[in-house]
Amino acid sequence: MPELPEVETIRRQLAPHVEAKRLREVEIRDPRWTQPLAADQLANAVSARRLDKLSRRGKYLIWEFGGDVFLLVHLRMTGTLLLDPAGEVAHTRVVFHFDDGRRVAFVDPRRFGTGELAVGTAARDEFLDRRLGVEPFDEAFTTEHMRTLARGSRTPIKAFLLDQRKLAGVGNIYADEALFRARVHPLREAGRLDARQWAALRDGILTVLQAGLDAKGASIDDFRHPDGVRGGFQNEFSVHRREGLPCPACGSPVRKLRAAGRGTYVCERCQIKPRQPRQAVTRSSSLPSRSATLSS
Ligand SMILES: [Zn+2]
Repeated sequence: MPELPEVETIRRQLAPHVEAKRLREVEIRDPRWTQPLAADQLANAVSARRLDKLSRRGKYLIWEFGGDVFLLVHLRMTGTLLLDPAGEVAHTRVVFHFDDGRRVAFVDPRRFGTGELAVGTAARDEFLDRRLGVEPFDEAFTTEHMRTLARGSRTPIKAFLLDQRKLAGVGNIYADEALFRARVHPLREAGRLDARQWAALRDGILTVLQAGLDAKGASIDDFRHPDGVRGGFQNEFSVHRREGLPCPACGSPVRKLRAAGRGTYVCERCQIKPRQPRQAVTRSSSLPSRSATLSS
């Protein structure tokens, strides 16, 4: 799934070609894209409007049209936006036709991507605030902010990072890579990270997102740039999708486990596994020390 660096890469490449252009027509071939809104309602709302700006928040690409009309596009699993694709591309769900003849195709084999409409800045903000927490490159993303959010939380830190309402834009790839850099195990309870670990994790998140941006995203499934080129960050992974390969820091084999329902990659030598849940620890502590050792 495209994460912050992939969506931002698309935005940066597309923006110079479409900003300040008038959208002649949006051709919605798959009405599921706009649900629950009817496709023609969305098409009528944005057609013939000037695209003032293409912006991003979390994994949403925000098409800011004149008259404070906003189209909020989420690529989900397999969505890609292609600029002036040559010929007909399979799985094209939507085509944006601009006045100057340029076209942007939304291609999405698995059809989970969405296009939603917000009219007025208040509606846009309400839409985004309901779904998205702090933006990683915003100055509000501090160690203290994250510690406060996580206070008392027993959610595994990996699941916590994937929750877009807490931190916007981080998904499976960048969560694994950031946790590895911070030397934090993905199953550690979010509420039990100390200030030092949160500081390391914040640094790790910013480092991997920036590396992802510098490499113009990671292309592991269908992700392509608007010009069809692939990103390069998949060649820089430390642990993600590297099961059985040596950890770049210590040489131990990378393990794959499940966290937050997602395939998760970890070096359990660098990222120390949390102890057993508290009840189990309490129970075993009443046993003789030898049994306690064996049971842990
Ligand atoms: Zn290691």
